[in-house]
This record gives sequence, C-alpha cells and structure tokens, in this order.
Amino acid sequence: MPVNTIAYQNIIKELISSSTILVAVSKTKPNEDLMELYELGQRDFGENYVQELVDKAASLPKDIRWHFIGHLQSNKVKYIAPFVHLIHGVDSLKLLQEINKQAIKNNRVIDCLLQIHIAEEETKFGLDETELEQIITQIDQIPNIRICGLMGMASFSEDQHKVRNEFKKLNRIFTQNKPWFIKHSSKEPILSMGMSGDYPMAIEEGSNLVRIGSLLFGARNYTK
Ligand SMILES: *Cc1c(COP(=O)(O)O)cnc(C)c1O
Repeated sequence: MPVNTIAYQNIIKELISSSTILVAVSKTKPNEDLMELYELGQRDFGENYVQELVDKAASLPKDIRWHFIGHLQSNKVKYIAPFVHLIHGVDSLKLLQEINKQAIKNNRVIDCLLQIHIAEEETKFGLDETELEQIITQIDQIPNIRICGLMGMASFSEDQHKVRNEFKKLNRIFTQNKPWFIKHSSKEPILSMGMSGDYPMAIEEGSNLVRIGSLLFGARNYTK
C-alpha cells in the first residue's frame, strides 16, 4: 500500500495550530516508505522492535529522530542507547537503571517517558499512580536519564466515552506532575497519547505528541 502523503499533509496542518509533535510510526514498513515522508520534511519516526529500529537507523539519514515506542526489554537497551531520541514506554525502575547504565557508557543523557496504565485491558503495560510516585522519588539517583513526561495508550474500543475518560485520567496525572517534569528536564513536558484512531480526541484532552502509523503508511501486514 502506498504512503498516504495527502493524509500526512492534512495531519501536519491540523497539528501545527496546537504545536503537537507528530511521530510517524513506521514499524513493519520498508525504508522507502519512511523516505517518502522524510522527503516531505518528517524527522520523527517511531518503532516498536529493537532490531528493526537498529537496522533502519543504520541505513536511513542521520538527522532522523528515532522514538522507541514499544515494550523495551532490559537486555536490549544497549542496542538503541547510542542514538535513540526518546524512549516512550518506560514502566519500571529496573529498566530506568539499565537505560541509565547504557547512557553513561555512551556518554549521553537519554530522554524517557514513563508509561501509565490507563486502559482497562490487562494486556497493556504501564505504571499506576503509586508506582509513578515511587519512581519519581528515586529518580535523582539516576543522573543520565531525563524524564520528559508521560505516555499512555487508551483502550482499543468503540466506546468514545471510555476512551475520552482514559485520556482525561492520563492528562490529570500529567498535569499534577508537570512542575516536577519541568524541574527535572528543564523543558516543556511531553504527553504522548493518541494514535490513528483516536488522536483528535487525544489532542482535545491535552496530548502534545501523537504516534500515528496506519493512517500514514496503511494497514500493517505482520505475516510477511
Ligand atoms: C503501532 C503503535 C502506534 C500506531 O498505531 P496506529 O493505530 O497504526 O496509528 C502508536 N503507538 C504505539 C505504542 C504503537 O505500538
């Protein structure tokens, strides 16, 4: 399926007015597809699989900002630590400590978002509010990590009311902790929420970074 450059232009226009960042989620898609958006000016790309991210980063232009948006295993942090721009789905202190260790090895500070569990589904990863507070109180001992904000995924549901409430919940937790994020990261905090099916609502509910895949690149085919 071809890249939907019309949808891309429209989304960019929509996002400009709210200064929302677009991460183009390119998992399973070939390099040519990413390059099509790159040529149109897109620089933020998101991937879920470490090996795929490493391969793409090696062969695509060096000014791409690579976002890791999947569930990261501690033993794989070392592969992306040299270059990753932002790790979205951090949900344990153990993982933060490993990212910190690899960041020190690479002589850099790695930006991370903490993932909050907002969906009712059991399968979605993330922290609850108590776990978030625990991590925040221990973060000063982790010098090469910068916590820039929060990430979350709403339920995959037709029930718009339910999805909106999950976004509201995440925005409430984000807003409560905003002063800490600003102090800790010295920059405008990031709230990463919203995907192809729900991003307009996510923006209404306070998102300033959306992760959009299928709307730009077409449906994914996992059988290949
Ligand atoms: C795949 C994925 C997306 C993009 O999903 P679309 O529905 O294709 O826009 C966004 N966020 C995460 C964490 C993903 O895994």
